[in-house]
Amino acid sequence: MTAPRLEIDLAKLQHNASTLVERLGGRGITVTGITKATLGSRAVAAAMLRGGVVGLGDSRIENIQSMRDVHEQASMTLVRSPMLSQSRRVIKYADVSFNTELAVISELSHAAQCMGRTHAVVLMVELGDLREGIMPHNLHDIARATLELPNVILKGIGSNLACRSGVSPDNSNMGKLSSLADSLEKTFGITLDTVSGGNSANLDWVFSGGDVGRINNIRLGEAILLGREPLHREPIPGLHLNAIELVAEVIESKVKPSQPWGSLAQSAFGHLPSDKCAGNRDRDIINQTILAIGRQDIDPTGLKPPLGVTILDASSDHLIVESAQLLEVGKEVVFQINYSALVRAMTSPFVVSRVH
Ligand SMILES: *Cc1c(COP(=O)(O)O)cnc(C)c1O
Repeated sequence: MTAPRLEIDLAKLQHNASTLVERLGGRGITVTGITKATLGSRAVAAAMLRGGVVGLGDSRIENIQSMRDVHEQASMTLVRSPMLSQSRRVIKYADVSFNTELAVISELSHAAQCMGRTHAVVLMVELGDLREGIMPHNLHDIARATLELPNVILKGIGSNLACRSGVSPDNSNMGKLSSLADSLEKTFGITLDTVSGGNSANLDWVFSGGDVGRINNIRLGEAILLGREPLHREPIPGLHLNAIELVAEVIESKVKPSQPWGSLAQSAFGHLPSDKCAGNRDRDIINQTILAIGRQDIDPTGLKPPLGVTILDASSDHLIVESAQLLEVGKEVVFQINYSALVRAMTSPFVVSRVH
């Protein structure tokens, strides 16, 4: 079979989605399934929908367009602020977009008018992580201006934490989002449909048992795809951690010295933290294997090898591992992957995806 490849188990993804949908439903929170790490895979989107997500979200309009072709009825949200240059495409394929710039919302309104459509806008609020978001003291002005524009509807507000700076969702920042929702409703006499608290990093806070306030939606990518929460990368109880796995093929298998010889200068990429292979130092020879995959395809620090196999290093096209037993040429090795390795593997033209 073709290698390297991602093995994507749709039944496991559906289980992860439905488990989270059910648990969050118990707290009055709906789930938007985020597909961007899979490049908007239609099959993954379908599995998430079968798992009960209320809609799909992606950061790229190209991915949404592709999913729209097969999921005509599903609600689709563009979760990255639209490019001005793509406003018509956003109106055509997405039902909702996350926004922070009035110039963009005006352009969306204009495009929606021209196309005879209505588009829903969620205003993103900055709560400390310093990625996207309107500063809270500017939120009312932008909401007012949005409410005055034709063919756009103010659907709600949202926030995104833990992506740039690692700021964790807690009672304080989530409480702030709730109180902003209350005050917008009171000021403008409106009802906000959606208060979207954040991403997979919000799960710890949601399940910590406190009052979730006005938060009635979160957007989940990593938790569904990999079964982990991103703050501490702990497994989420009851979810599959291996719904997506990476398979690479052995192209060289030799007994070699554990240490290089000759005069040493820089290697192509520097080294993986060499302390990782501290165990090798006192050994003369090891079973060294090369797999046909490299930094062009994965983040080598994001792979978890099977028992008895240790990753030593990686160059653009070679992953070098040590193993207790010699691994035959042609043998396939299966790795668990983290989010960073997944994103890179999905975007490498050399890695195929096999859904089953
Ligand atoms: C990527 C993204 C998500 C999903 O994040 P996960 O950590 O994968 O759950 C949610 N919201 C926004 C705005 C995003 O960009």
